[in-house]
Amino acid sequence: MAILIRLQKTESAVAGISAKKKDLPVRMSTLEQEFKTFCAVVEKEREQLEALRKSRRDKDTHLQKGQELLKRSRERLFEVKTNKEYQSILKEIENLEEKNSRMEDEIISLLEELDHFEKSIQEKEEELQARRLRYDEEKKNMEAELRALEEELDVCVRKIADLKKDIPADVLRKYEQIKSIGRGVAVASVWKEVCDGCHMSIPPQLYNQLQKSTALITCPNCNRIIYWEHRED
Ligand SMILES: [Zn+2]
Repeated sequence: MAILIRLQKTESAVAGISAKKKDLPVRMSTLEQEFKTFCAVVEKEREQLEALRKSRRDKDTHLQKGQELLKRSRERLFEVKTNKEYQSILKEIENLEEKNSRMEDEIISLLEELDHFEKSIQEKEEELQARRLRYDEEKKNMEAELRALEEELDVCVRKIADLKKDIPADVLRKYEQIKSIGRGVAVASVWKEVCDGCHMSIPPQLYNQLQKSTALITCPNCNRIIYWEHRED
């Protein structure tokens, strides 16, 4: 009976380890996905920042050209002969001044936008750095966890094989049979007349017998092999 209990406990441990092992790749890919998503966000902002900077350079060049044109027009003002020409250049100057002033306003608001954006991206870059460290560490932890689980599993599998060697063939056959209909669990403990396999009460007489006997007794409800286990509750 003691061997059967150990066999059951080891097999239950295998089930637990296998479940965790199956869960790990899911957790790993979730982690990776989250990290990659954030990387993409930062990458997109970097591109936006670059576009804003380029736009600023273009507007600067534009303004420079506008200022040169204005300067030339003002010089031409002194060379004109007729009033009509004079008026036309004055109009031209007025237009250029307006255009330049608009461009200056655009540059100022672009500078504000750039300033704001640079701060935001700076924060994101810092967060990315922190996330990268965390991601690397968590990935390493998960890989270590996976290796540990595999080792644990190996130990359990060897232990199960050893335990089975010490169990009489007919008992083992019965164990496997009960296991296959008992959703992987063949042996259940009983405490305070309640079977841990099916959570049903067993008759008091059987409970008494269970506490004294070393024979194989099965639960009248779920048919699992049962044993008495004293618990502190
Ligand atoms: Zn039961």
